[in-house]
Amino acid sequence: MKSDKKFKRKCVACSQYKDKQDLIKITKTKEGEIILNPDTLTHGRSVYICKNEECINLAIKNKKINKALKSAVSQEILEQITIKN
Ligand SMILES: [Zn+2]
Repeated sequence: MKSDKKFKRKCVACSQYKDKQDLIKITKTKEGEIILNPDTLTHGRSVYICKNEECINLAIKNKKINKALKSAVSQEILEQITIKN
């Protein structure tokens, strides 16, 4: 487990390590812009959430994203990550 941890990212909601492709990434740039699933050239403070409804809802409900990024995440971003059935 320990050796592949560096290739995985931790979900902010369930605290489990997952492969990058199973996670949504939200990055806050140095300029303070919040970007959903940024390209690899975008650097900043990032937060990862599993691509499942439970983790997304939990992260939004508990304001985990805001806390992790130390910034308010716009409703627009939150709506984009919310899985709609
Ligand atoms: Zn999760």
